[in-house]
Amino acid sequence: MVAQIIINSTVRNLNRIFDYSVPEELENMISIGSRVVVPFGNNKNPLEGFVIGIKEESPYKLKNIIRIEDKKYLGEKEITLAKIMAHRYFCNVSDCIKLMLPPGTTTANLTNRIHDKTEKFVYLLKDDDEIEKEIEDNILKSEKQIRALQFLRMNEEVSSSDLQQFADVSPAIIKTLEKNGYIEIVEKEVERNPFIHKVLEKTENLKLTNEQKNAFDKINSCIQTGQNKEFLLFGVTGSGKTEVYIQLIEQVLKKGKSSMMLVPEISLTPQTVDRFISRFGEDKIAVLHSKLSLGERYDQWKKIERGDAKIIIGARSAIFAPAQNLGIIIVDEEHDESYKSETNPRYHVKEIASYLAKREKIPLVLGSATPDIKSYYKADNNQMELLTLTKRANKSSLPEVEIVDLRNELINGNKSMLSIKLQEMIENNLKNKKQTILFLNRRGHSTFIMCRDCGYTAKCKNCNITLTYHSKDRKLKCHYCGYETKEINVCPECHSKNIRYFGAGTQKLELEIKKIFPEATTIRMDIDTVSKKNSHEDILNTFKNEKIDILIGTQMVVKGHHFPDVTLVGVIAADSSLNIDDYRASERTFQILTQVEGRSGRGNEKGNVIVQTYNPDNFSIECAKEQDYLKFYETEIELRKQLRYPPFCDIILIGINGNTNKEVENISGKIYEYLQKMIKKYEVDMQIFKPVPAPIDKIKNKTRWRIIIKCKLNNQIIDALYDTYCQTNAYINKYSKTTKVIFDINPTNMI
Ligand code: ADP
Ligand code: ZN
Ligand code: ZN
Repeated sequence: MVAQIIINSTVRNLNRIFDYSVPEELENMISIGSRVVVPFGNNKNPLEGFVIGIKEESPYKLKNIIRIEDKKYLGEKEITLAKIMAHRYFCNVSDCIKLMLPPGTTTANLTNRIHDKTEKFVYLLKDDDEIEKEIEDNILKSEKQIRALQFLRMNEEVSSSDLQQFADVSPAIIKTLEKNGYIEIVEKEVERNPFIHKVLEKTENLKLTNEQKNAFDKINSCIQTGQNKEFLLFGVTGSGKTEVYIQLIEQVLKKGKSSMMLVPEISLTPQTVDRFISRFGEDKIAVLHSKLSLGERYDQWKKIERGDAKIIIGARSAIFAPAQNLGIIIVDEEHDESYKSETNPRYHVKEIASYLAKREKIPLVLGSATPDIKSYYKADNNQMELLTLTKRANKSSLPEVEIVDLRNELINGNKSMLSIKLQEMIENNLKNKKQTILFLNRRGHSTFIMCRDCGYTAKCKNCNITLTYHSKDRKLKCHYCGYETKEINVCPECHSKNIRYFGAGTQKLELEIKKIFPEATTIRMDIDTVSKKNSHEDILNTFKNEKIDILIGTQMVVKGHHFPDVTLVGVIAADSSLNIDDYRASERTFQILTQVEGRSGRGNEKGNVIVQTYNPDNFSIECAKEQDYLKFYETEIELRKQLRYPPFCDIILIGINGNTNKEVENISGKIYEYLQKMIKKYEVDMQIFKPVPAPIDKIKNKTRWRIIIKCKLNNQIIDALYDTYCQTNAYINKYSKTTKVIFDINPTNMI
């Protein structure tokens, strides 16, 4: 008997399937999914792997499997899914298997650990490429150091004691890595149990409104009869979608089954979880997201695996949690971009959810106030059942939205970032002791630094992108690679002192607010203020509890928070998301504006929203003002049809990154050639565009090219693309090992 094995490792060369022979005494014990220990090459220590297939024989002479571990993490179902994913998302089976393993799983023994209140967390300071290169170049030699670094690459939020236990390394090794600049150690507070200190009053089911009842009944009938069906629950914010989810989950619990509810990472707050705990109690609930420490995630995973936690609330990768006997899958805020993975495997969670729901014969519910155009189109064409909630459940009304035309401000001599109208409204709010949120989707101070005499612009030396000025530390920074340099007052090209800073970000906005309203208290939330120690949640809590007057922030402020005292929301530049080079620009603008508007007036008082824009006639801004999704959808779907964009086709992006332009251009040409051949070989219809440099054609000193394909995805096309992917990899392995190629289906980021 021969077993096909995937090695549990991040090392690139090991990302293949290896055959091993199964000793006779193990034949009865081995099955697909078994965790095995195998000898490998000249390695001193044997490695761990997973059986992904079993066959009768092999023409080659094979090494024997050493042993089978007792604990089996994966079954045939998981392996099947991993194989399907590898083919569909153009990656290795091992990349997919990793998602399905308990957090932190390695060959080291897993034991229970007890944590202190504060703990030292370990973060990598070098990226994957740098580490791999140092291993290849033999700069990094110590096996233990390498093991610790590999472990950190695979796992997020690892404490020092987690690292010692899970990766089996000593404190001395960790010290050495810190001294040599590989890692950073940060002391943070932890709660081993994410629900600790919670005493929540039990809440009862609310009496559903007619609309809610209708939605509930339709979905519930699938739960009761064990039927697979997909639903789109389209309801404005506050229309009571969550209440419907809770009552459906109650039905699933009554049948002894478990429920999976996915939430975008950033909306997965204690407030969200509390509603579920107060209805069901914390024993039945598991929460999974990347802000939990590794140890916490491990414990939550085990709680699910044991079948104790029957309600799983989690971000994207929670879809792979070992839920026992699933009864429903809910994807809340289904339009959210964080549901698409931008690293290998580049899966979309809705596709995985749909597969699981079919496999388990259960309903899948997608919920949103601003559905993905693709989802609404499906519902419109009866590929999904549409359930609509039109009214706010608690009778609070939607806010009043007013649009300010920024062109008039300029004409009237107002050069400030704030229109006169918005300034008046803020002043008014300050007087009434109400809170204000200002939203600007650009961080830093100025986004564009130019010499007015010779036209020189300050660009990153590693990326083909302009540098952003950060006023706090008076530096120019690259938002793509982190490169920083001192601010410039003299042009490096012509030595002129006529340097101008253009474009405005959140830092500049905060300074302006302080100038106009010196007495107001402000707090800023963007990637620069959110850190490992000071989370997104902490900033929002400070805003709420200390009654800060004005919260200034990027997209982070948009998501699902409830601030009853916020009665004014100002959108500083509604156009910033319109001008991105992406077919979803209008959709994103509509979604962001609708969501940010939803932050205003959630208490008893009516809210106001001011939207500043240079394009007041743009239909996505207009529809967002009226909060009219259907009107937006009808216009947008017509445009998509004319231009043949999703849902009328799928977009495949092949990204080629490498050291030199020549290499990258050559490989891009090869891939283009392969694609042409595949069209004939598989008799498929694909529109393949010629290879071109990507819109940002250099990041981190890597040249970037891309090939775009438009097609209507089906199994044959996937086979054709997979074939291309394999041929490309074979070519790269032979001629250009440093070049990286990714195949991405409907990527979120087209840059
Ligand atoms: P959504 O998830 O659509 O944003 P929620 O479920 O959070 O909406 O409901 C918004 C508010 O309305 C919550 O405060 C909730 O308690 C209340 N609510 C929901 N359903 C009902 C109902 N049937 N009767 C009364 N209040 C309700
Ligand atoms: Zn100059
Ligand atoms: Zn850069």
